[in-house]
Amino acid sequence: MSLDREDRLKALGLWPIWRLRAAPVAEVDMPADVVLSPMQQTASPLGQAASLPSVAELDWDGLGLAVRACTRCDLAKSRTQGVPGVGDPEAEWLFIGEAPGADEDRLGEPFVGQAGKLLDAMMAGIGLQRGRNVYVANILKSRPPGNRDPRPDEMEACLPYLERQIDLIKPKLIVVLGRIAAQALLVSDTAIGKLRGHVHQYRGVPMVVTYHPAYLLRNPADKAKTWEDLVLARQTMQSLKTRAAP
Ligand code: URA
Repeated sequence: MSLDREDRLKALGLWPIWRLRAAPVAEVDMPADVVLSPMQQTASPLGQAASLPSVAELDWDGLGLAVRACTRCDLAKSRTQGVPGVGDPEAEWLFIGEAPGADEDRLGEPFVGQAGKLLDAMMAGIGLQRGRNVYVANILKSRPPGNRDPRPDEMEACLPYLERQIDLIKPKLIVVLGRIAAQALLVSDTAIGKLRGHVHQYRGVPMVVTYHPAYLLRNPADKAKTWEDLVLARQTMQSLKTRAAP
């Protein structure tokens, strides 16, 4: 299979869960030894695969549609809706969380529950406001049932959407919220206490790690460290802008 075709299948969530099988599937315009799982058969007619772009080629509208219709992992079976993200599509600041919770799943927007209120307050602390030069997204676009931790295979399946968002937004700085998102993006098992306090890079974009607002609701004593992280983020942004100035 050519890379182009593989990319298109990935965009549709049909790859790599396809299974080789001896019996050919006659009505499918694909190699005769490829067959879909029952869920994939109902999710997306194969005839569309050849004409759909890969995630890396999607524009904002296409990305929103793809996320809402995504069946790349089993979370599609239990979620209410995919939650792409919210904010200024040309934002300098990108905040990345873990996954939609119950409120986000219901309303289709990231960080709208209690953790979202705290996130808004964290942003306000450094002069930011959701939607104004800020974009908010999650690694997972679908809610894990019962708010369990995202699984590595789910994050791997969903990551192309976040990567495309980053490529479209071209943020100056990323703030990643919480251990799970930070470890996933940095491909690291280092404790969050050691990841914070440094400026990392993700896809060539400077990235600061801090605690997840939901964790801070349970552990308010760590809000002081979060404030340090936000100050680091603000200083980093200031120096990025100073460096970029003519
Ligand atoms: N927690 C997250 O990580 N993301 C949300 O959107 C809500 C809660």
